[in-house]
Amino acid sequence: MYEGAIQDLIDELGRLPGIGPKSAQRIAFHILSADPIDVKRFASTLERVKNSVRFCTVCFNVAEAELCRICRDPRRTDEILCVVEEPKDVVAVERTGEFRGRYHVLGGAINPLEGIGPDNLRIRELMVRLAAGSVQELILATDPNTEGEATATYLALLVKPMRIRATRLASGLPVGGDLEYADEITLGRAFEGRRTVEL
Ligand SMILES: [Zn+2]
Repeated sequence: MYEGAIQDLIDELGRLPGIGPKSAQRIAFHILSADPIDVKRFASTLERVKNSVRFCTVCFNVAEAELCRICRDPRRTDEILCVVEEPKDVVAVERTGEFRGRYHVLGGAINPLEGIGPDNLRIRELMVRLAAGSVQELILATDPNTEGEATATYLALLVKPMRIRATRLASGLPVGGDLEYADEITLGRAFEGRRTVEL
């Protein structure tokens, strides 16, 4: 539709999740009219995110060093481990201010239709952490949808022989949704009201 670079930019933006053709066009023209200093900063941030961000070797949250900020924090307890699907869920739980334990980021949820099984998630790494023996409670904070529930049940069964209390967040979260869409008060309450998973 347009010539050269502006069309390339619209095409690139249109490939991003949640950005339709109209938004892509609007953002592209916004960038075109923006201050060159702002655009330069944006471009260098894009490069930096690919060059310097990596995954924490313990919990698989995003990190800028070998360990993420949360794993490095000596004030947090090792006794409670919160399992989430994605790094964005760590941010959602942190926003509630309710949790002082550690995290484990699975990298998704069990989804047979998309060919994602337990081996495609960081479950083996989770079991290694649990075998170390400090964790007393495992909070299964996977998303409140079919895949998240299936993953939570799978993990609860897996840890059952280990004498670790597996808990699930209280109901009240928007069902079928994503953890990150819950507001912090709702998520904070769901956290406080968590219950032991009965199997
Ligand atoms: Zn970490």
